[in-house]
Amino acid sequence: MTGRLVVVGGGQAGFALIAKLRALSDTRPITLVAGEASLPYQRPPLSKKYLTRDMTLDRLIYRPESWYHDNRIELRLSTRVTAIDRAARSLALSSGDMLAYDTLVLATGATPRHLPESLGGALDGVYTLRDFADADRLAEALQPGKRALIIGGGYIGLEAAAVARSLGLTVTLIEMADRILQRVAAPATSDLVRALHQARGVDLREGTGLRALIGTEGRLAAALLSDGTELPIDLAIVGIGVTANDALAREAGLATANGVVVDAEARTADPSIFAIGDCAVLPFGGMMVRLESVQNAVDQAEALAAILTGGTEPYHPKPWFWSDQYDAKLQIAGFGLGHDHTVTRPGTRPGSASVWYFREGRLIAVDAINDAKAYVVGKKLIESGLSPTPEQAADPAADLKALLG
Ligand code: FAD
Repeated sequence: MTGRLVVVGGGQAGFALIAKLRALSDTRPITLVAGEASLPYQRPPLSKKYLTRDMTLDRLIYRPESWYHDNRIELRLSTRVTAIDRAARSLALSSGDMLAYDTLVLATGATPRHLPESLGGALDGVYTLRDFADADRLAEALQPGKRALIIGGGYIGLEAAAVARSLGLTVTLIEMADRILQRVAAPATSDLVRALHQARGVDLREGTGLRALIGTEGRLAAALLSDGTELPIDLAIVGIGVTANDALAREAGLATANGVVVDAEARTADPSIFAIGDCAVLPFGGMMVRLESVQNAVDQAEALAAILTGGTEPYHPKPWFWSDQYDAKLQIAGFGLGHDHTVTRPGTRPGSASVWYFREGRLIAVDAINDAKAYVVGKKLIESGLSPTPEQAADPAADLKALLG
C-alpha cells in the first residue's frame, strides 16, 4: 500500500499517524488536510491548564512547521474536505481544489453537541469546548465573582467546573441523569468525584435537567431548570457529549453509527479508506464502540501506521484515561462497560481511593483517585489478563502487585 496518503483532520490521531509513519521510515507522499488554522495540537489541557491560562498554545502544538517540511508532509491548514469521490479516489476541498489519494484516512474527531437555539443555545454567554478558540473565548469569560452554570456532569463539564471554581466563580452543575459520570463510571466513582466538587463549594444538582436558558437582549441572564427553579447566571458551559464527525464517510456510502464503522485494522468497507480516533467505531470486547481518548487516538493511529507499512497485527485497545480536577488526579485503566460488580479499595493517604470493576469475577477496569499505585497495578493486571478476587481488591492489606509475579 503505497502512493499518496491523505489524512483528513490534524488532531491527535491524524498527527500520531503521520509521525509514526515517518518514524517507521515510510517515505510515501503525505498530505494532511486540517480544518483548523493552527498546527496540530493536543486538546486535553484545553479544559485544564490552558483554560486557567497556565499554559500557552505553543506548548500544545506537537511539532513546529519545520518538522512537517523536513518530513515532506504537505500541510493544508484552514482547509476542509467537503466530499469524497470514491470511484475517482479524489477529495473536494473547501478551497475549491480537488485532491487525489491512493489511501485515505479519516481522523475527523467529533463535535460537541450544542443546545438548540429554541433552548437559548445561541445566546451570548453560552460556551462549548472543543478547540483552542473555544477555550480562549471561555477563558475570557471566567472572571472571579461571575455565576457559571455547567450543563452536564461528564468529564468536560466536571473539569470546567473545577477550573471555574478555582478561578473564583460561583458554580452550579446540573446533570440530567441521576448521577454525574453515569455513562462512563460506576456509582462509587461518581460518589468520590461528587464529594470532591461539593467540598470545593460547587452546587451540584443531579437528576436535574435544563428547560431553557433565558436571555435579555440576546445575552444570557438565567436558566430555567427542570424542577422549576430559575437560576440567575452570567455564563453557561454546555458539556452534553459529542457527535462523531462521520458525515463525509456516510455521504460517500460507507457505514456509520455515530462514527465511521471500521474493523480491527481501522479499515472501512472500502479497502483504501480508514478511520481512526474519536470518529471511528471499532470492535472491542465483543462490542462496537467509540473510544474518546488520547490513548485510543494514538494507539489506533500507530497500529494503522504499522499496517500501512506491511504489518499484520490488528489493533487491540488497551484503554486508559485521565482527568484532572482541582488537585485531584483521576486515572482510569481498562473499560468498565458491562461490569457486574465493583469494590472500593481505600488508598494509603487521605483523599485517595480506587474503584475496581469486575465482570463475571474478572477485573476489567480500575478508576483511581489520587492513587497512582492502584492505577499502575490495576492497568498491568488488566493488560496481562490477570485478576485479583473482588475481596483481594477491596482489602488494602492485600498485595495486588504480587499477583503480577
Ligand atoms: P480531534 O483531536 O478532535 O481532531 C480532529 C480534527 O479534524 C479537528 O481539528 C477537526 O477540525 C478536523 N476536521 C474535522 N472534519 C474535517 C474535515 N472535513 N476536513 C478537515 N479537517 C476536519 N482525552 C484523554 O484521554 N484525557 C483527557 O484528559 C482529555 N481531555 C480532553 C479535554 C477536552 C477539552 C477535549 C475537547 C478532549 C479531551 N480528551 C481527553 C479527548 C481527546 O482530546 C480526544 O479523544 C482526541 O483529541 C481525539 O483525537 P482525534 O484526532 O480523533 O480528534
